[in-house]
Amino acid sequence: MQTKEDVNQLFLYSKYFIDYINRNQDVPKELKEMQYLSCAGIFAYYGVQEVDSICKLFQKTKFIYTQKAMEEIFPDTNIIGRNNDDLYCPALFVSDIMRTSSTWKINRKIYVSSYYKQGYAEQLTSVIHEINHIMNNIKNPICKHNGSFVFRQGISISEIYGETRENLYLEEAFNTLQTSEIMQLLFLFGQYEIKDKEIQRALNKFIYSYHANQDTTYFMIVPSVQPLYQTQPFYSLLKEKRYTGDISMIKEHFNQKVGENALEELSREVDLLYQSDFKLSQIKHKIKINQFVSKYVR
Ligand SMILES: [Zn+2]
Repeated sequence: MQTKEDVNQLFLYSKYFIDYINRNQDVPKELKEMQYLSCAGIFAYYGVQEVDSICKLFQKTKFIYTQKAMEEIFPDTNIIGRNNDDLYCPALFVSDIMRTSSTWKINRKIYVSSYYKQGYAEQLTSVIHEINHIMNNIKNPICKHNGSFVFRQGISISEIYGETRENLYLEEAFNTLQTSEIMQLLFLFGQYEIKDKEIQRALNKFIYSYHANQDTTYFMIVPSVQPLYQTQPFYSLLKEKRYTGDISMIKEHFNQKVGENALEELSREVDLLYQSDFKLSQIKHKIKINQFVSKYVR
């Protein structure tokens, strides 16, 4: 049972933590507030026992608050907006992977656009979405898969020296669902009076602009996999193994219940659905996804 004191403690601890990490740099107030709330949300969701990973996550990620629209910084990135006037992305995560003589070096950067004016809750959701990808990439980020090195982020893997990509959109769908749980936790903290005025102000900005299911970036694929995400034991297994990097255990568990190569096929259908522009083929992919999901959920 959480109390007003617990929530105040959590926020104070998160603030102290972020201020300590930022101690040698000047961080704009707007960005700092988002970091406080994000940090509290991540602690609330993963638990204080994961403090080492959370510390690593905030220490190893460079947060860049920029006046530019993301399209100016990344002209080649496909940023999806809801309509043509609204092509402005609130936050983006980029990672550069370099091989040193003995190990791998990963530079993680989150760009947060100060140019974005669509709403505070929407931008905070986007920042926490990116942070949550990194939280699920802190343990075992580089692994060997079929003989080549891959960069792992949650359940997705991308070949470092090649073109192979797996589970990219399934990872996005699960990350979106998990992020909305974190936002819900933060939203519930809004019922308590927060002693720290800076945090109270930031939390209010979030609460007043928040509504559930507002993250529409992956709206095409999220509802189809949501019943699977919410069913036990898949839910707990995914949360744990996505974090530790034992993706094969998720795969084996799902395939044992649904059929040989079922997770691979489900993932392929999710990719096809996300990339499809035609209503008829979207329906076809949704039906196929539903077949896999309902076989697990039944
Ligand atoms: Zn994402």
